[in-house]
Amino acid sequence: MRTSSTRDQATGGSPDESPAPVARLVGAVKTYGSGPGAVRALNGVDVAFGAGAFTAVMGPSGSGKSTLLHCGVGLDRLTEGTALIGGTDLGLLRDRELTLLRRTRVGFVFQAFNLIPSLSARENITLPLDLAGRAPDQGFFDELIGALGLSSRLAHRPSELSGGQQQRVAIARALLGRPDIVFADEPTGNLDSRAGAEVLAFLRHAARERGQSIVMVTHDPVAAGYADRAVFLSDGNLVADLAAPTRESVLAELQQVAS
Ligand code: ADP
Ligand code: MG
Repeated sequence: MRTSSTRDQATGGSPDESPAPVARLVGAVKTYGSGPGAVRALNGVDVAFGAGAFTAVMGPSGSGKSTLLHCGVGLDRLTEGTALIGGTDLGLLRDRELTLLRRTRVGFVFQAFNLIPSLSARENITLPLDLAGRAPDQGFFDELIGALGLSSRLAHRPSELSGGQQQRVAIARALLGRPDIVFADEPTGNLDSRAGAEVLAFLRHAARERGQSIVMVTHDPVAAGYADRAVFLSDGNLVADLAAPTRESVLAELQQVAS
């Protein structure tokens, strides 16, 4: 694997300078189906995501990006290997325990927003905490809503919001519970470039100013340029790890991955 960093990010760096990773995959294999039609979507991936880091996951369509996110967060189970959130091995949890962990310790932003149509923006944002029986921190709620420009939109239903506003509601929902880590699958994939830039700037701000750990799948080199690190998948393998990515360095890496 190519790496541009002197620090060994895949293992979280030397013990005295980096805290334990917030999320980690070890020897991750995911096979869909069986027999001759089986697809090996992850082919033995080792990757660790450090506290407060904003990481972009890149690679061609079908390279395993969504699978990595879904297995990393316990929405789906690995065929072999280990997925950890903090010190918790997701493979050892029952389905009910996994659901509880997802509600309390991780946030997820889907490309298609996945908001509940019949609920207002405010109700959508607080839903995970409501389900977990936790009261939202009102100060943090106000701060998030202000920073995301949603203050005048809270009573509206998703159908009354623009795509950019819906995605910002989904991001507020993922961040409100101050999860250990937020996973976002192409969060700007359905947005125009201006709305996309606002969402990316907010995610970068959350990582830098609040230490929110974020892992974001994207195929857009401009989007990856907002992150602190970019990792590259190809055919289910992690093939490169780039520190401080820029649009240019990401484009160069993508060309190598494709060749
Ligand atoms: P990416 O997000 O990088 O486009 P995915 O993780 O969605 O890639 O898919 C990786 C591979 O696994 C692809 O070949 C895809 O067709 C296959 N795959 C993904 N999900 C399923 C599924 N539920 N059943 C069968 N094959 C799947
Ligand atoms: Mg995908």
